[in-house]
Amino acid sequence: MAKPSKPSTRPLCVHCGNKYGSRKTTDERIEWDEGTQPPRYTGNLLHLRDRWPHSIVVKDPGPRDGVATRKMTATRELWDGISYYVPYYPFCTLRCALGYARKAYQKEYEHVAPKHKAPNHS
Ligand SMILES: [Zn+2]
Repeated sequence: MAKPSKPSTRPLCVHCGNKYGSRKTTDERIEWDEGTQPPRYTGNLLHLRDRWPHSIVVKDPGPRDGVATRKMTATRELWDGISYYVPYYPFCTLRCALGYARKAYQKEYEHVAPKHKAPNHS
């Protein structure tokens, strides 16, 4: 059985030992001029990808209000390299958590109260 670990590195399930969790990313909206390359990412996070690039119409907010130009926009996906989304921590899935609970239950009650012993589900 794996030792529980904090989600700072890709965690291992305490029951089955498999790696689990998806990268916990942040999204940033970027805009650039049509026909040019998207701006380079200059921050400290890992740039995974730019999703859903598409064209939009931007209206000039200045005195020439109403002049519309086309721009490109996309969602930039960034990751800090260590954070994982782990909704069932320290287990990979609810199924694994249930399997762990059943084993723990059987271990606890099989010698104390045999009549509580559940049928074998595994
Ligand atoms: Zn598991």
